[in-house]
Amino acid sequence: MLEVYLTLWRSGALSRIIRFFQDSRSKRWMGFLRSWRRKRVLKSARIDEALWTRVAAKLSFVRGLSEEETARLKQLVVLFLAEKEMHGAQGLQLTDEVRVSIAVQACLPILNLGLDTYNGWVGVVVYPGEFRVRKEETDENGIVHTFDEELAGEAWPGGPVILSWEDVGLAERGYNVVIHEFAHKIHMDGAGDADFPAACAGMDAAKWRETLEGAYRRFCSEVDAGRPTFIDPYAAEHPAEFFAVMSEAFFTESAVLARDWPELYRQFALFYRQDPAGRTG
Ligand SMILES: [Zn+2]
Repeated sequence: MLEVYLTLWRSGALSRIIRFFQDSRSKRWMGFLRSWRRKRVLKSARIDEALWTRVAAKLSFVRGLSEEETARLKQLVVLFLAEKEMHGAQGLQLTDEVRVSIAVQACLPILNLGLDTYNGWVGVVVYPGEFRVRKEETDENGIVHTFDEELAGEAWPGGPVILSWEDVGLAERGYNVVIHEFAHKIHMDGAGDADFPAACAGMDAAKWRETLEGAYRRFCSEVDAGRPTFIDPYAAEHPAEFFAVMSEAFFTESAVLARDWPELYRQFALFYRQDPAGRTG
């Protein structure tokens, strides 16, 4: 194998192969293969209705979807489960209910953006409860501090999403760890900077950025002033956390967000191409 590799490398064939996979023709070809595979999956797989009803009963924001939206969400869930690899950690058994529940919440934000938003990674790791990760932080003197942190969820750029099943079960209006982590994925794997994702095509990019920055400043000053807010104060930690926490509110506490943060709500509606506050459920 090594000899084949070296021969290819010396002849320049390897760089030609790499270029082939990077050029747009091969991307089109991969896109064609992907959509062919998806059609095949949708022909043979379907979500059990009783299972769907059980999962949806716990997720109020799914019940408000129209019939057409529900049908599309189900298709996305089937494809998500076919393309992503979900693993249970620390002995957690992944029942169909666990898998479908996570997939439904992961797919809601991309209902009108498409599953390709989640291309480039495959893993979803589910722990029974909060999981411990080792973190490093450098202080102002350049000294690195190492500490352990208990997390309900984590997302890695180009890598897996990690979730605590116990915390997934604690989903309520305004709090949703799955939407939070997948909003991070949309941000970190797409265009934008460390603070915020870039505006989508067709949006006014300057308006999007200005609205997010203004809302973040307002939110931080409300938290600093000790004013009660229905949004988790954790959103004041960093602009990227603000985007993820506001995404949770956008999908699960839509009417309140539209009332209290109307300009931000309008920008999120353009970004996600959805109007959850306009739904009836
Ligand atoms: Zn976060």
